[in-house]
Amino acid sequence: MNLQLLVLIISLGSMACNASDGRSEDSKASQTMINTESRVVTSIDTLPIERSISYLMGAFDPAKNPHFALIDTVHADRPNLYLRRDAYQAFTQMYQAAKAAGILLVIRSATRNFEYQKSIWERKWKGETKLSGNIDASDISPTKERALAILRYSSMPGTSRHHWGTDIDLNAFSNSYFESGKGLKLYQWLQAHAVEYGFCQPYTAKGPARPFGYNEEKWHWSYLPVSQVLLKEAKTTLNNSMIRGFAGSEVAESIDVMSRYVLGINPLCTLASEN
Ligand SMILES: [Zn+2]
Repeated sequence: MNLQLLVLIISLGSMACNASDGRSEDSKASQTMINTESRVVTSIDTLPIERSISYLMGAFDPAKNPHFALIDTVHADRPNLYLRRDAYQAFTQMYQAAKAAGILLVIRSATRNFEYQKSIWERKWKGETKLSGNIDASDISPTKERALAILRYSSMPGTSRHHWGTDIDLNAFSNSYFESGKGLKLYQWLQAHAVEYGFCQPYTAKGPARPFGYNEEKWHWSYLPVSQVLLKEAKTTLNNSMIRGFAGSEVAESIDVMSRYVLGINPLCTLASEN
């Protein structure tokens, strides 16, 4: 057995233990993933994973959180976007590999805290931003149906994976972009290689394996070594009654946003023990 393979196996074993074992992943141990294209084992400097309700629900400013990094505009379509440092380090490695294959990854959205998500949600709630299909949500009643229409693509504040600093939207907010031409080439590359850098698509097409939740989003990718841990924490710590503080939050409980949306993701993006 060669040394690189040995390092990989030891490291993957350690990741699995960390990910399934309560609080032990709050260590500074490094995670290792393999880039199968170049056969170079790359190391990610992991950060402690905060488990507080305020972090899970996005009640913080990423610009003031030392675990977050400002995304270089080389990697994004605009300034002032943030990611957790470990997720960003993994992304930059994926970016370089994609670039070498002739594919340009562009971050369109990254960390969004509660206040940011609230502004997105409430603009849609009031009809100031139209839903896809040019639908004005404010025309929809009762309010539960209005919330369900927005929930096709947008999270209620406090429940977005974008709060965690692990999730990114890439290149275009449209599934059709990823279904032909250079968008399809990009998507096929991500399907084949994102996993090598720890990324997974949580919002895949609905079907028997994923009956509930947001519609398919081919642009949304999540850094699993951290987001798997945070999802498990959210499952045990958060409940529908905590989802409040914005227009329409009173219907979160009757929709069961926690079970149907927060947990309604591609099973491949959850811990094996959670399936
Ligand atoms: Zn997204």
